[in-house]
Amino acid sequence: MKKPKIGIAANILIMDSGMMPGIYRAYVNNDYVESVEKAGCIPVMLPVISDLADVKEQVKSLDGIVLSGGWDIDPLLYGEQPQPQQGFTMNEVDRFFLAVIKAGDELSIPVFGICKGMQAVNVAFGGTLWQDIGCQMKECLQHMQQAPRYNPTHRICVEEESFLGDVFGKDVMVNSFHHQSIKAVAPGFRVTASAEDGVVEAIERTQGNFICGVQWHPEMMAQHGDKMMIQLFQAFADKCRQQEGNI
Ligand code: MN
Repeated sequence: MKKPKIGIAANILIMDSGMMPGIYRAYVNNDYVESVEKAGCIPVMLPVISDLADVKEQVKSLDGIVLSGGWDIDPLLYGEQPQPQQGFTMNEVDRFFLAVIKAGDELSIPVFGICKGMQAVNVAFGGTLWQDIGCQMKECLQHMQQAPRYNPTHRICVEEESFLGDVFGKDVMVNSFHHQSIKAVAPGFRVTASAEDGVVEAIERTQGNFICGVQWHPEMMAQHGDKMMIQLFQAFADKCRQQEGNI
């Protein structure tokens, strides 16, 4: 069977040292590339471009899109002023992510959003975010873990009747590198995994093209050989193959 071609929405890395301090580099962590490959797919990097009218053409030939993690999302994009604990943002990166999600919707391309990628999906369809769960939520667990990136540190409860439920069953342990999370879930989406403190850890679209977003970093666990997280990428690859068959 033909390997699905998966675009990975990239980020901008601002170099703060080295030969060219201040230079912008298009980048994705290689864990994404390796995870997509482990799932039997061909990864393609999608650099942040400035002319958003070109994004639809940029993603047109893809069978699937992975939205990578990154900086916080500009709260102005979901109608809020920045709170004191809001982190670093690059508005141009966020608007690119929203354009990629819109293009995926228009072209019926399956989308898998990871960390910031999930938050961008929620914002793209009208949801909002907690700008800092530590300050804004009454009680929450440690979601910025003090452990290697591939170590799972907290449990999530998974909706069994869902894409993630088919992969994981009713719960699974995940890693955690976020200080923001979903506040209001976007219309057309449902929460399919939560941490024990109520923090939203995954959403899935209930209509339209397949979209699943997860708050943790499965690519960091898959790269390290975690079988469940490799299965998650494989399940997404299956969605991409099914979509391809429909065209
Ligand atoms: Mn978490």
